[in-house]
This record gives sequence, C-alpha cells and structure tokens, in this order.
Amino acid sequence: MEIEKRFCQSCAQVLQGRIDKKFCDDGCRNNFNNHQNSVVNREVRSVNRVLKRNRTILIALLLEGKKQVKVRKESLLLEGFNFSYSTHQGVVPGGNSYQICYDVGLILQENSEYLILRT
Ligand SMILES: [Zn+2]
Repeated sequence: MEIEKRFCQSCAQVLQGRIDKKFCDDGCRNNFNNHQNSVVNREVRSVNRVLKRNRTILIALLLEGKKQVKVRKESLLLEGFNFSYSTHQGVVPGGNSYQICYDVGLILQENSEYLILRT
C-alpha cells in the first residue's frame, strides 16, 4: 500500500513526518501566513482608500464653518464620490436614506440632492 504524499502549503515540497503537518518548517509557515496577511491587508487598504476619499470630498463640499450644505448628486459624482462605500447607512425617521463616512453624513433629499452634515 502506498502512502499518500503530502506537500508543504508554502513551497510545495513533499512533507515528511507527522500526518497533520502542513509546512516543512517554521520558515515555510511564516512565509505562508505573511502572504495570507498581505492579501487581506491589501483588500482592507483599498476599501479604506475609497472611504477616506469619500470623506475628503464631503468635508471639502461642507466648506469651512458650515454645519450642513445641500449638494446635487451630479456634483458628488463629478468630485469622484463613490456611493457604494460608506461606514454606516440607514433610513432617517422621515424615510429618506442616509449614509455616513466616518463622521460626515449625507441624507438623500428631493430632486437628487443630498444634505451633507457632520454627525
Ligand atoms: Zn516548505
């Protein structure tokens, strides 16, 4: 009977020893885990970048000293605001939807306008 060969998850060399072994040694385990973490971190960074850009756009439109401002949806799109990314979203008591990027929110108004305000 031939024993089924097992391979290192990092370098793909044939493994010797215990049946539950996944890596040749600590070096291969570390390489594997570092690669896994870098993939996850890259995805998190790319989402964070969009969220921060959205916040920056809202802050810039809010203008210094103003607590809130109404802006047309087209203006937000022209600035590069990505409506698919927010840190919170929901519906205000009046029934209009809102989304928040960290500490700045926008509430959908009539006529494709948004009210931008600090939370
Ligand atoms: Zn290995």
